[in-house]
Amino acid sequence: CGAEPPPQEGSVAVVLRVRPPSPRERGAPTVLHVLNQHTVLLSAEEPGGTGGTGGTTPPARCPGRPRKNLQFEFDHVFDEKATQEEVFQHTTLPLLETLLAGYNCSVFAYGASGVGKTHTMMGSMTTPGIVHLATVELYKRLEAMKDKSCEVLVSYQQVYKERVYDLLEPQGPLNVWEKPGKGAVVQGLSFHQPTTPEQLLDMLAKGNKNRAQRPTKANASSSRSHAIFQIQVKLRDPTGGPAGGPRVAKLSFIDLAGSERAWDSTGRGEGLWEGTSINRSLLALKSVIRALAGAKGGQSHVPFRDSKLTLLLKDSLGGSCRTAVIAAVSAAAPAGRDTYSTLRFASRARRA
Ligand code: ADP
Ligand code: MG
Repeated sequence: CGAEPPPQEGSVAVVLRVRPPSPRERGAPTVLHVLNQHTVLLSAEEPGGTGGTGGTTPPARCPGRPRKNLQFEFDHVFDEKATQEEVFQHTTLPLLETLLAGYNCSVFAYGASGVGKTHTMMGSMTTPGIVHLATVELYKRLEAMKDKSCEVLVSYQQVYKERVYDLLEPQGPLNVWEKPGKGAVVQGLSFHQPTTPEQLLDMLAKGNKNRAQRPTKANASSSRSHAIFQIQVKLRDPTGGPAGGPRVAKLSFIDLAGSERAWDSTGRGEGLWEGTSINRSLLALKSVIRALAGAKGGQSHVPFRDSKLTLLLKDSLGGSCRTAVIAAVSAAAPAGRDTYSTLRFASRARRA
């Protein structure tokens, strides 16, 4: 395990997950077609079509669906029949190897509200999501490594309106400092030391309850915050890590706020402002991921400082870190505009 080479510079894998139609979408035409395990086709908008807006009239500059059929390629495409286990196997399992070799890793769920980000990350009692599956696998591997002195540290924070909150010990917003050469330090953030997978999952469940909820037109219970669940592993295995010391690495799971535009939410007063600052973190993240995808083999400016989200994740993106982006979409016509926007971002994130 200690001989594992560092991941390729700027290693970003991007997969697409298409969720089954929601009860509201049943009977609506399908506009996104899964062609094979790597390719989808988004069908063209009929002349005069609106691209689907869920009742909101968007500004004219916002595109709906494309004017001609378009294909998009991904590292993997999961259709509506894909199980949580399959998504885990193709996205997170490879990262566990990298984590145990001492490198930071992150998994993002990206997409509009209601497309299955939280379902993929957290799942339910009957279909646990990738965080649950990763936890079980991680403890299995730690057990197999017989590194009895290994330490697991957990934190759970959220970025809401460009402020950082602790989800495990809720209190006011926390200050964030940038430590030269280290990344961000969140003052007062609580760290917890689970000794069993059950304890770790209890912490996750507790944090999930504390996530900020705010009704929007698109989805009455959609989450408007970015949630960052981090598992840090410290192995005291004498074979040593990349620098010869103990191997310490972090696995971050980020359940992003809905990527729909501000005008898709309540659109007035507080709702509009909130949408804008959510987009600030999302926009910065998109620039960072695009910069990393383009940085392979060359140096380019990566704008980590542009938002709280990217500052917090500075030590987990780029360099020798490994990243998986799970873009989630609906295939139904009423979601066409958001689907097109997600496909464009996700396919660009992958392009080197
Ligand atoms: P988001 O977090 O992106 O806003 P959710 O994960 O809350 O969306 O999903 C919205 C609804 O759709 C939930 O009721 C969820 O259970 C359901 N759902 C999403 N993806 C799937 C899927 N792949 N299979 C079955 N149900 C899903
Ligand atoms: Mg959600």
